[in-house]
Amino acid sequence: MVDVIIEENKSLVGLQTFGLKAQTKYFGTFDSVQALRSLIEKGISPMMVLGGGSNILFAHHYKGLIMQNLIKGIEVTKHFKQSVHVRTGGGHNWHDFVLWAVQSGYGGVENLSLIPGTVGASPIQNIGAYGVEVKDVFVSCEAINLETGKKRIFRKIDCQFGYRDSIFKREAKGKYVITSVTFTLTKFTHQLKTAYGDVVKQLEAKGAWPKPSIADISEAIQFIRKSKLPDPAQIGNCGSFFKNPEVPEEIYQKIKQRHENAPCYPTTPGMVKVPAGWLIESCGWKGKRVGNTGCYAKQALVIVNYGDAEGAEVLQLVQDIIASVQAEFGIKLEPEVQIV
Ligand SMILES: Cc1cc2nc3c(=O)[nH]c(=O)nc-3n(C[C@H](O)[C@H](O)[C@H](O)COP(=O)(O)OP(=O)(O)OC[C@H]3O[C@@H](n4cnc5c(N)ncnc54)[C@H](O)[C@@H]3O)c2cc1C
Repeated sequence: MVDVIIEENKSLVGLQTFGLKAQTKYFGTFDSVQALRSLIEKGISPMMVLGGGSNILFAHHYKGLIMQNLIKGIEVTKHFKQSVHVRTGGGHNWHDFVLWAVQSGYGGVENLSLIPGTVGASPIQNIGAYGVEVKDVFVSCEAINLETGKKRIFRKIDCQFGYRDSIFKREAKGKYVITSVTFTLTKFTHQLKTAYGDVVKQLEAKGAWPKPSIADISEAIQFIRKSKLPDPAQIGNCGSFFKNPEVPEEIYQKIKQRHENAPCYPTTPGMVKVPAGWLIESCGWKGKRVGNTGCYAKQALVIVNYGDAEGAEVLQLVQDIIASVQAEFGIKLEPEVQIV
């Protein structure tokens, strides 16, 4: 057992990118599996793990123990002819890991540049951006059971990854702390993905098209993201608040009768994804402020804290948006962000 410090009545304002006024009854950090087990052995209930706080809405004060994951470190564990396996600490900053991979010449995560948060949270919602998801490079993760303190290895197949989804948002929700993740990255022949969004346009602008390196792609995506998404250091937010709903083609056709320019992306046969941002914008929410919260002026999918918001008023706005989209389109939006 190692010594761990538990603070009482700790403010969560600086520990989540929403910057909401909330606090936790108990708070502790861990930088090793032993320290995590010592926290678990305190027997405080409920308990939960926090990474970078970039995908969480504290709608209320937390009545139990919040444990912040500070397990860092990157290690190449296996070398193959064309690829490497890399194990990274669950508390390692995700973007720092991406930069390490790009600088080391390893491909696979460059499209996931500048996503806030920790490596340990990356499998929770199978983070994704610009045509790549974490499942594409995921090999396995090590996790500690919060009830027993025992270690379990989750292989890719065990994680049941889906669109912004995994077993950790369903059966295993709140039951495990991911302490490390092992990824597979390419060494020489990288599978570059440039078809999504303005990536090619940005690569052309920087003179890197048609033969971009993984570093060019990472830089292009960082540039695009900075121009589109609000920086949580300037204005509190959690990125996209809702998932893009997948609906049967007939529902989309009905929407199209009333909204000629309604966008959609085919997914599986007979199903399409309708951008949640478009649905919300069409209900008049884009740029709308309600008290201390509102929808970001450049992207309706992002809910922001104008400075002094409490979780309850953000939650009210979330519920109002869901109700108005349902009334207008008959589609129920699902939050991507974890509500606590
Ligand atoms: C500006 C901005 C842009 C974003 N862009 C994207 C994007 O492009 N794509 C995307 O997918 N996401 C995006 N996000 C969402 C967010 O960055 C990711 O979901 C990220 O993985 C959250 O990591 P975190 O460490 O901050 O998790 P937290 O917010 O701390 O936690 C989120 C949830 O995961 C659980 N959790 C955290 N760590 C662990 C662990 N080690 N073990 C078990 N459970 C854990 C928590 O209990 C909580 O339920 C964005 C967020 C912001 C603010």
